[in-house]
Amino acid sequence: MRLKGKVALVTGGASGIGYAIAERFAIEGANVAIADVDGESAEAAAERLQKIALANISGIAMDVTKEDQVESGVRDVLQRYGGLDVLCSNAGVQHIAGVHELTYSDWKKVTSTHLDGAFLTTRACLRHMYRSGRGGTILYMGSVHSKIASVLKAPYVAAKHGIVGLCRTVAKEGAQYGVRANVICPGFVRTALVEKQIPEQAELLGITAEEVVQKVMLKDAVDGQFTTTDEIAEAAVFLAQQRTLALTGQSIIVSHGWVME
Ligand code: NAD
Repeated sequence: MRLKGKVALVTGGASGIGYAIAERFAIEGANVAIADVDGESAEAAAERLQKIALANISGIAMDVTKEDQVESGVRDVLQRYGGLDVLCSNAGVQHIAGVHELTYSDWKKVTSTHLDGAFLTTRACLRHMYRSGRGGTILYMGSVHSKIASVLKAPYVAAKHGIVGLCRTVAKEGAQYGVRANVICPGFVRTALVEKQIPEQAELLGITAEEVVQKVMLKDAVDGQFTTTDEIAEAAVFLAQQRTLALTGQSIIVSHGWVME
C-alpha cells in the first residue's frame, strides 16, 4: 500500500495508460478521481475499479482543454476527498500527417490537449497544493517523443517536448512548497492511441501494418517488445510515492531501451 491515504487525479483515465495508472494507484491504497473527456467511460472505469479498491474511486467528465471544466472538476475532487496529493496529467491524442499537410485545427487539437491540458490541470492543482502546506506530486505523461522526433507526428513531438519544459519550471517553482514534478516518457504501448495510428502510418509510409510495428515502432527496443501499461503504472507509483525533492524535474524513459540517455 505505497499510496495509502493519498488522493490522486488521473486525466485521460478512462482507458489505456491512464486507466492502468488509476488501477495501480487504487491497488496501492489511493483515492482516485478518474477524469476524462468521455465522462460515461470515466464513470464506468471508476465503477470497475471501486470493486477492487479499498479506497474511494470516482469518475468525472473533464475536457482538459476547457478552463471551466478543469477548474470545476478539481474543485469537485477537493470537495469530495478534502485534499489532492497527486496529479497525473495523462490525457492525450495523436494525429498522423506530414507537416506540409497538417491542418491548423489538427495542430491545435493535439498541442492543446497535451500542453493546454497539462497547464490548466497543473495550475488548478498547484493552487491547492501550495495552500495546503502538504506539498504534492505532479506527474506528466510525456513520451519518447519528448526526447526524439519521428516523421508524421509534428504536433505530438512539439507538445511532448514542451511538457518537459513545463515540468522543469514547475519543479523549480514548486520546490519551496514541497511539490515534485516529473515526466514519464513511454515507448510504444499498444493502446487505442497506437492501434489507430498503425494503419494510418502504413498508408502514408507505403508499408504494411506489420512493417510499421516491426520496422518503425519496435525496431530499436532492446528486446523488440512493446512497453506495457503495467510497466508505465509501476513507474508512476514509484514517482508518486517519493517523499523528498531528490527526484524532481526529471523525465524518465520507460521504453525497453528504445531510447537511452
Ligand atoms: P488512449 O487513447 O488509450 O487514452 C487517452 C485517453 O485520453 C482517452 O480515454 C481519451 O478519452 C482521453 N482524452 C483525450 N482527449 C482528452 C481531453 N481533451 N480531455 C480529457 N481526456 C481526454 O491513449 P494512451 O496511449 O493511453 O495515451 C495516454 C497518454 O500516454 C497520452 O498522453 C499519450 O500521448 C501518452 N503516450 C502513449 C504512448 C503509447 O504508445 N500508447 C506512448 C507515449 C506516450
